[in-house]
This record gives sequence, structure tokens and C-alpha cells, in this order.
Amino acid sequence: MRMERTLSIIKPDAVGRGLIGEVIRRLEENNLKIVALKMVCMTKAQAQGFYAVHKERPFFDSLTDFMSSGPAVVMVLEGENVIARYRELMGATNYREAAEGTIRREFATDIEKNVVHGSDAAATAAFEIAYFFNSFEIVG
Ligand code: ATP
Ligand code: MG
Repeated sequence: MRMERTLSIIKPDAVGRGLIGEVIRRLEENNLKIVALKMVCMTKAQAQGFYAVHKERPFFDSLTDFMSSGPAVVMVLEGENVIARYRELMGATNYREAAEGTIRREFATDIEKNVVHGSDAAATAAFEIAYFFNSFEIVG
């Protein structure tokens, strides 16, 4: 049993489609505890910094355009095994391959515009949380 934190983003496609409440409802329904939350409008440069691990990928320019195209909601989730639990709730990157009942399967429209982000490991979670939040913005 590991206490972990992970970064969640409700991406601009989902905010634009009015899905903030739906995503948060699913987090709460699955006992994924929110310990920080705010809305951000990333610049292109901020999106490039956030997704720097993907800078050599062919979709990098399009992905960072998309992530800086409008407001997003960033959250820190905390709990036992929360990194894996939240990724399970999100579903596979490609919504066509995502399991039935997952957020991406139900709401994504595109492999890129896939509604939510979640950190994939403890080290990336630490980097990603610090990218958006200082310690005073994360509760108890
Ligand atoms: P995220 O990091 O956003 O939680 P992920 O870990 O499931 O998603 P990654 O491989 O880290 O997937 O890709 C980051 C994001 O880049 C994806 O969520 C998606 O928005 C976009 N992406 C990934 N693969 C492709 C692709 N082949 N074509 C277009 N966009 C892609
Ligand atoms: Mg990823």
C-alpha cells in the first residue's frame, strides 16, 4: 500500500464540451481524492514544457497546439496506488482501445483529444505536480 499523488488534467476538449462536472463526478465516485484544483490556460511554451518527453514524436506540435487551445482544469489526486487507479479509470490513450466504462472510451473523440491526462509513474507525477502547483496550493 503506497500513498501516492498524481496529476490529472481535464483537457481543453473536455472543458469546451462541458465535461468538467462529469469527470470530477467519476473521480469522486471512485474515491479518488482531490487535494488541489485550478483552471489554467497554457501557453504553447508551457504545453511544450509539460509534454517535453514527447518532443521527438510526430504528434508533438499538434498536441501542444491542442493543449494550449483553451482552458484546462489541473488537479492533484492523492491516495493508495492512485497513479494506476486513475489511469485505469481514464482508459487507454487511444479511446478505441480503451475498456468499456472508462472516461476516454465514453467521451474521447480522437486519439489526441482524449479528455483527460494522468501521470504515468511516481517520477513523472512529481515533475508534473510541481509544474502547476506549489506546496501551499495542495491541501493537508
Ligand atoms: P497523457 O500523458 O495525456 O495522460 P497517455 O499517457 O495515455 O496520455 P502518451 O503516450 O503520454 O499517452 O501521449 C500523450 C498525449 O499525446 C495523449 O494523451 C494524446 O493526447 C496524444 N497522443 C498520443 N499518441 C498520439 C498519436 N499517435 N497521435 C496523436 N496524438 C497522440
Ligand atoms: Mg502520458
